Amino acid sequence: MIMCVVRMRMMPMTIHRFGRSRSTFPVTFPPSFSFLQTSSFHTWSYTNILIFTLSTLTFLNILDVIAAKILGKLFPKRIPSRAPDRPFTKFEIFFINFNRLFTVWFNSLLIKETSTDPFISWSYDSMSTTKGLLDVGIGFFVLFFVDDALYYIWHRSLHYGFLYRLIHKHHHKNISPGALTDDAYNANPIEFIVTAFFFLGSINLLKLVLPSLHVISVVAFASVNATLAAINHSRIDMDLGSWIYSSKNHDEHHGRGHGNYAQFLKIIDVFGGTRVEWSGDEGKNR
Ligand SMILES: [Zn+2]
Ligand SMILES: [Zn+2]
Repeated sequence: MIMCVVRMRMMPMTIHRFGRSRSTFPVTFPPSFSFLQTSSFHTWSYTNILIFTLSTLTFLNILDVIAAKILGKLFPKRIPSRAPDRPFTKFEIFFINFNRLFTVWFNSLLIKETSTDPFISWSYDSMSTTKGLLDVGIGFFVLFFVDDALYYIWHRSLHYGFLYRLIHKHHHKNISPGALTDDAYNANPIEFIVTAFFFLGSINLLKLVLPSLHVISVVAFASVNATLAAINHSRIDMDLGSWIYSSKNHDEHHGRGHGNYAQFLKIIDVFGGTRVEWSGDEGKNR
C-alpha cells in the first residue's frame, strides 16, 4: 500500500481550478493541518501523505461500523439474499483497494477545492439565523439531487452495449451484495473515478442556481452519500419512504441487472420510467 502511495505522490497531477482568492478564505486550519489547504497532494511530505491516507482509510472503515451497527439496529429488518456469500477474487480485491486509494487522493482534492472556491461559504455567523440554517438544508438537498441525477444518466449509460461489457459488468458480478463499503467500492476504477468527479461537477452546477453553498452542506452530503452507498450494498432493509430512499432499490438493481439506476432517490427513476419494485424471494434469508 505504501508503494502505491509513493507512486501517487510522484505522479504529475493537474488540478482544475474554478477561480478563487485565498485571501478571502475566512478559516485558518491549525498549523499541523495547514498543508490541506495550502498545497496539493503531490507536493505534501511523506509524513503528511501517510497521516492523511491512514485517517481517510480509517474513516472509511468507521463508516462500515456506523452503517452496520447503528443503522442496522435502527432498521432491524434484513433484505433476503438471492445468492450465497462468495469471497472476493484477487482482481476484485485489487479494484477495491485501488478505489480506496483514489478516494484518499480525491478527498484531498475536495478539501482543497472547498477551501479555496469563493462559492463555498465557511462563514459560521450565518448559521445563527434561521435563513442561514435553511440555506444549509437547501444546499444539501439540491446537491444531493443534482449529484444523483448525474449519476442516474451515467449509470443508465453504463448499461448499454460495450460500456456495460467493458466497465460496468464488473460491479454486477455480485447479485446480492452485502459487504457494505467493500461491495460499493468493487467497481471498475473508470466507473468509480467518473462517479466521484460528479461531486465536483454538481457543486459547479449549483453555481447556476444558488448564490453560495455552505461547507456544512458539502460535508453532510459527502457523509450521507458514503453511508448510503454502503447501505445500498448491505442486507439492511432501510426504507425512508416511497418517493425518497430504500436500500431495496439498489439491491433490486443488482438482482435484475437493470432498472433503479439512481443511487439513492426513487423519484429520479419514477421520472425516468425505470423504477422497478422489489421482487426478491421473501422466503430466503441470509
Ligand atoms: Zn448497474
Ligand atoms: Zn451496486
